[in-house]
Amino acid sequence: MKKLLITIDGPAGAGKSTVSRALAERLGYRYVDTGALYRGVAYVARHRGVAEQDDAGLSDLLDALALNFILGNTGQRLTANGEDITDAIRTPEISMLASAVSARPVVREVLLRVQRELGRQKAAVFEGRDMGTVVFPDADVKFFLDASTRTRAQRRFAEAKDPSAVSFEAIERDMRQRDRQDSTRALAPLKAAADAVVIDSTELTIDQVVEQMLAHVRGVLDRG
Ligand code: C5P
Repeated sequence: MKKLLITIDGPAGAGKSTVSRALAERLGYRYVDTGALYRGVAYVARHRGVAEQDDAGLSDLLDALALNFILGNTGQRLTANGEDITDAIRTPEISMLASAVSARPVVREVLLRVQRELGRQKAAVFEGRDMGTVVFPDADVKFFLDASTRTRAQRRFAEAKDPSAVSFEAIERDMRQRDRQDSTRALAPLKAAADAVVIDSTELTIDQVVEQMLAHVRGVLDRG
């Protein structure tokens, strides 16, 4: 059967990760979370004291940085120069810093090459912000997954490990700020590709979204 390259873009909290993982599993494809790569760069910059506007510092950091996805017992892990950073990159601070470093051309240029290399063999679901617009403009199937800001913030709040340690208002505020940064930046802003299938998940369950996507993918496969 033909191997497809599928992209799923959209704002934070739209359900991209869960849906992308499920879709990849149903198809027997690889799942690639490209936001984790930006988070990885942000994490290493934070630990080395490299500021988000310091392009020369970021460039040196990237020259010596190997980010790798590794399949472990507990699912997919991300390493930075061999150090497992899978859990450490999932903090509100790293979310905001990832959004800031992702606006720097020097970072996007390097990660563009990394992502295209990861996509060479197809049979993969790539999740991110600019997958269908910039990284894989020729992808076989493109989705753009959206949901209302309130719903997205509610989902993030429900996912919080310790809900007493975070406020719903803070999550919603950070989300709006990150959306604004991601969609107004000059380079590769968050937006749906002209040929993307747009799905609004506000009123849908994860399963319903995955089924809609699968139906579309099957249609593409049937047409050869
Ligand atoms: O998807 P996630 O929330 O993990 O992404 C973190 C940040 O990385 C986003 O807010 C965005 O600024 C950036 N990003 C990006 N391009 C991608 C994936 C993520 O700019 N393809």
